[in-house]
Amino acid sequence: MTEETKVQYAKPIPLKTIDNAPYWDAADQHELNLQKCTDCGHYAHPPGPACAHCGSENVVWENQGSSIEGTVYSYVVSYRPFLPGFEEDLPLVIAVVELAHIPEVKIIANILNATPDQVDIGTSVKMVWEKINDERAIPQWELA
Ligand SMILES: [Zn+2]
Repeated sequence: MTEETKVQYAKPIPLKTIDNAPYWDAADQHELNLQKCTDCGHYAHPPGPACAHCGSENVVWENQGSSIEGTVYSYVVSYRPFLPGFEEDLPLVIAVVELAHIPEVKIIANILNATPDQVDIGTSVKMVWEKINDERAIPQWELA
């Protein structure tokens, strides 16, 4: 134990696997990395060992940078914590967001600092990265 008091991050921290590590490594740098199939050209999100469209294992990673915008494709509002650590965030808006520059890619994350009445289908949002500890950060959305 150190004398320094640290606020502990109480929510689950996403686990890096061999398939998704490039996604989370980029997130830690506040960037979006997307998996793309070099055979059929489709993006694969969430990432996996092979292309979800054609089954090809020829997938590469494409860095999209830090300026990510999108629109709400669908969303739910959570009024009950279904995982530990979310009690303070309720009601929580969880959205499926269609990327502005790659509409075929939809990324699910929370919309931070928004009340449910501020969010609708088509609402413009931008990606932000929530720092969860010294090394890790998670992509989230915020009203644009
Ligand atoms: Zn493919």
